[in-house]
Amino acid sequence: MPDTLAHEVARKSTETAVFDVAVIGAGFAGMYMLHRLRQAGFSVVVLEAGSGVGGTWYWNRYPGARCDVESMQYSYQFSDELQQEWDWSEKYATQPEILRYANHVADRYDLLRDIRFDARVTEAAFDESTARWTLTTQAGERVTAAFCVTAMGCLSSANKPTFEGLDSFTGAVYHTGHWPPEGVDFTGQRVGVIGTGSSAIQAIPVIAEQASHLFVYQRTPNYTIPARNAPLDPHQREAIKRDYPNFRQTAKQTFAGINFNFNDESAAGVDERRRQEEYEARWAHGGVSFMGAFNDLLFNADSNETAAEFVRSKIREIVHDPAIAELLSPHNVIGCKRLCVDTGYYATYNRPNVTLVDVSNEPIETITPKGIRVKGEKYEVDAIVLATGFDAMTSALNSIDFRNGEGNALSEKWQEGPRTYLGLTMAGFPNLFTITSPGSPSVLTNMLPSIEQHVEWISDCIEYMRNQGRRRIEATLDAENAWVEHVTEVAGGNLRSTCSSWYVGANIPGKPRVFMPYIGGFPMYIEKCEEVVRGGYEGFDLS
Ligand code: NAP
Repeated sequence: MPDTLAHEVARKSTETAVFDVAVIGAGFAGMYMLHRLRQAGFSVVVLEAGSGVGGTWYWNRYPGARCDVESMQYSYQFSDELQQEWDWSEKYATQPEILRYANHVADRYDLLRDIRFDARVTEAAFDESTARWTLTTQAGERVTAAFCVTAMGCLSSANKPTFEGLDSFTGAVYHTGHWPPEGVDFTGQRVGVIGTGSSAIQAIPVIAEQASHLFVYQRTPNYTIPARNAPLDPHQREAIKRDYPNFRQTAKQTFAGINFNFNDESAAGVDERRRQEEYEARWAHGGVSFMGAFNDLLFNADSNETAAEFVRSKIREIVHDPAIAELLSPHNVIGCKRLCVDTGYYATYNRPNVTLVDVSNEPIETITPKGIRVKGEKYEVDAIVLATGFDAMTSALNSIDFRNGEGNALSEKWQEGPRTYLGLTMAGFPNLFTITSPGSPSVLTNMLPSIEQHVEWISDCIEYMRNQGRRRIEATLDAENAWVEHVTEVAGGNLRSTCSSWYVGANIPGKPRVFMPYIGGFPMYIEKCEEVVRGGYEGFDLS
């Protein structure tokens, strides 16, 4: 089996290079997939649209970008040497530090030799006669592989709403998810930020310090909890490292695959004093563990409202102008949209150079050559930042023209919403595996352990196929239907499915409203995946 790209990749569009596995994407999922499959003796090529590794951390370089999962947990655990040798510097790692980590992993495992950068896959077609996929890139390069694995991330396809007049704007326009690698210095500029989701909430306090004036265009306010970020105490870091296997194992047994203090009392079952005590402690600690204050916050609307009102009371305390505080106060279910984590977000609105513009009732009217017009009022700006999020979970896959042996398109199959078996495979699309796709816990969990679990499951499956002398694997329609039904059923019992979030595709006009990730929890999901394997790949046809 040839094993280097130099031998393999077709340099001319007329040649087709041959591999065991083609992986799309070189973020954390694609990198580990490559390493794992190579270790198992398969020839692998990774096709990556960007010019470097890191996926989401390659593209999202906006000011203030950092992970909202603590750094000691947001890293690979497949190698103890790797997790012992790397030292995170802060409680929450910045985007540059995470990108350095991704590059460190790429170098350590010599991954670059099998990754093709600037290779955006546009088409992928399965040939039933050979049981192989052929992938074509934008530049016309072609590779063929027995298996295709997508590792394109859940939040990688930028949502750029079509604002009237945007093309006429004479200043610079940036999207947080496609930030220029060289960075942007807003010193002395008037800046307009559109959106107030996680990305904006991280970027706004940093941009406000540089800009001469910052205008924030808010359609819906979000709940955000202070990060309380700080340099990592070396003693604490070493203590976790000494106990890393247990630490990781405990995390895997939690709903979100994250090791944090979860209180198993219900908010409805305790008095107001006890609730306030718990919320205050969580607010002081910081981060997404705020939602672990009580066990019924995502199941009981009244309990949820006690947490929501607590955060609103904090906004009123922090923001001096009561009218601005009210505008910043969400009134929907807390945790329904992804909870945000910030550093100094609400206090930023006390700055004289920051203006909050409410676009909740009347949308942005138009973008003019010199700025943004809302309700007849013109806001002159030098730069616009679109912090408008992503077409989540489906768009990256749908952007490639996946065709099965009958010529049917994946985008047609998903017209009414994504359908998968375990978020890993799809009926009708043999030998195609998807990492952290709709129907898997993915975005509701710590992505790194979720990615590792998927990669290992896929790699084990491909090894099993080789060992059994099988060449074709396809999820049965029955198994897929039963899984989709289960995913929908568990979502129905959770308050998270009740609001207009990207989890349900509500941020994209016309997108079918389906709760996409699996909300049954990481341990239940792992158990199901293992059960399928124990059953000889139950729910799959192997031939
Ligand atoms: P987002 O949460 O989808 O937020 C997009 C924002 O843009 C929302 O405030 C939205 O308003 C607004 N918007 C969209 N279209 C608009 C329009 N036409 N006019 C006015 N406003 C508009 O996107 P995001 O902030 O990039 O975050 C997406 C996800 O990425 C997060 O939920 C999180 O999972 C992940 N993320 C994580 C981190 C981290 O680890 N710390 C950081 C950033 C992002 P509406 O709410 O009204 O639609």
